[in-house]
Amino acid sequence: MILEGKAALVTGGSRGIGRAIALRLAAMGARVAINYVSKPDAAQEVVDAIKAADGDAGLYKFDVAEATAVNDGVIKIIEDFGRLDILVNNAGITRDGLLMKMKEESWDQVLDTNLKGAYNCIKAVNRPMMKQRWGRIINISSVIGFLGNAGQANYAAAKAGLTGLTRSMARELASRNITVNGVAPGYIDTDMTRDLGDEVKEKVLAEIPMRAMGSVEDVAGAVAYLASDDARYITGQFIHVNGGMFMG
Ligand code: NDP
Repeated sequence: MILEGKAALVTGGSRGIGRAIALRLAAMGARVAINYVSKPDAAQEVVDAIKAADGDAGLYKFDVAEATAVNDGVIKIIEDFGRLDILVNNAGITRDGLLMKMKEESWDQVLDTNLKGAYNCIKAVNRPMMKQRWGRIINISSVIGFLGNAGQANYAAAKAGLTGLTRSMARELASRNITVNGVAPGYIDTDMTRDLGDEVKEKVLAEIPMRAMGSVEDVAGAVAYLASDDARYITGQFIHVNGGMFMG
């Protein structure tokens, strides 16, 4: 229980990768705030699963793209848990399409959620973590942020932006004993990727040296490591969890 006494916020903790991260951090002893925006039943199921395993968790609905809502949410989490030590910026969406046809709205929605969402959350936890002189911020990027992808200019730009945000915040916060790192998954089996057609899936698998999609637990394991004291001297880095698809 190496995170005993710590409190964590996992944005988009209700499904997929976020759910697995929340369960893993709870199993390590952290109390976990499960954030979601649209699916209360899924989020409640995660809280119930954590409590059933003798952990502690709470439900926090807010849109990470809305700064005021994020601030209010973080204040409530700190009221409930007394502290906030670990932030996992995981909430993310896709609105795919070739740039020629991409609507401005699709660009804005993806940038607002995937990049500005992380900024909003980091800004909200900045001061309390600085006061504690201990913090872990882990941003969930994507292999697409490093490789680019036709049809995902908005998503790739947002995820590449997370690289600059991660490295800059790592420099700003290092002296306060707050590390800021990223995990960049490749293709992971979740709701986000489940609807890819068989043809696309085959093409993707051909690009992965390990010839398989990853699991949500593969990503949660990397986050767990970065949150632990074993990673105390690591900041501004990305762990690539992608079966060899990109070697950064
Ligand atoms: P899912 O679509 O399965 O889940 C997305 C989660 O984000 C849900 O919990 C959802 O909440 C939440 N969410 C979406 N928008 C917001 C918002 N505005 N505010 C708060 N929460 C929000 O996604 P994955 O688990 O697949 O992806 C998680 C992260 O991993 C994303 O950042 C994604 O870009 C990244 N990633 C995923 C890969 C994959 O192959 N799956 C590969 C590389 C990166 P709700 O349930 O309420 O809708």
